[in-house]
Amino acid sequence: MTLEIVTVPCLSDNYAYIARDSETGATAVVDAPEADPIASALDSRGWKLDKILITHHHFDHVGGVESLRRHHGAKVVGAAADAARLPPLDEAVSEGDSVAVGGAHGTVIDVSGHTVGHIAYVFPGAAFTADSLMSLGCGRIFEGTAEMMWGSLSKLASLPPETRIYSGHEYAASNARFALTIEPENEELKRREAEISGLRAKNLPTVPTTLSLEFETNPFLRASLESVKSAIGMPGAADAAAFAEIRRRKDSF
Ligand code: ZN
Ligand code: FE
Repeated sequence: MTLEIVTVPCLSDNYAYIARDSETGATAVVDAPEADPIASALDSRGWKLDKILITHHHFDHVGGVESLRRHHGAKVVGAAADAARLPPLDEAVSEGDSVAVGGAHGTVIDVSGHTVGHIAYVFPGAAFTADSLMSLGCGRIFEGTAEMMWGSLSKLASLPPETRIYSGHEYAASNARFALTIEPENEELKRREAEISGLRAKNLPTVPTTLSLEFETNPFLRASLESVKSAIGMPGAADAAAFAEIRRRKDSF
C-alpha cells in the first residue's frame, strides 16, 4: 500500500499533512493547526477525514482538531502520556504502538524535547516529525532537556536513510542560514541553501526532506561528527553536549 501525502500550509508557517491510503481511501491528517485549509484540501478532493494524528499539545498543532472532528466525525489519536493537555483522544498511544490509516501502518516514536510527550508517526518511507527533527533544524527545547532531544533525534536517525521527513513548520530558510554559521564549507549545505532560497522565493514548501539529506546538512543531526565538534570549539565532546551547544547558539541566532 502507498500513502498519498498532501502538504497543507496553515497559519503563518505551519504544515498539516493529509495522508491517504489509496487502496482503501482511508484518510488521516497529521496535526491540525487550523481547520479551514485542511477542510478545503479535503473537500476539493472529495475526501472524508477518518483520523487526526496529533504530535504535541501546542496550539499551532491542535487548533483545528475540534472543528475537523465535529464536521468529519474523525477519530483523534495522540500521546497517552500527554492526554491531559491534548484535545479528548479516541486513541491514546505510546512509543511502539501502531496506528492504522487503512492498510498503512505507522509506528509511534516518543520524540520528547520540544515538549515532553511529543510523538512522531513513522510510516514505511515517511516520518511525520512535527517539531522534533525539521528541515535543517530541530524544534526549540521548551520542556525537555538537550539530552532528551538528542535521544529523540537519535531514534529518528536510526530509520532508513531514504525516509522522507515531514516536519511541522517552514523554517528551512532561516535554518539554512544558521547551519552555514556552523559549517560554512559544507558544499551540500551550500547547494541546499540555494535550492531552499529558490523554493521560498516562489512560496513553495521545502518539505519533505529525507533523512539522508539531513545527515549531510543538518547541524543538529551532525552534532556527533568530530568535524562539527571541532567547528564549534568542542573537539572530543560528548555528542549530546555538542548538540546542546548548537541548540544554544540557534536559540540566540
Ligand atoms: Zn510546538
Ligand atoms: Fe509548532
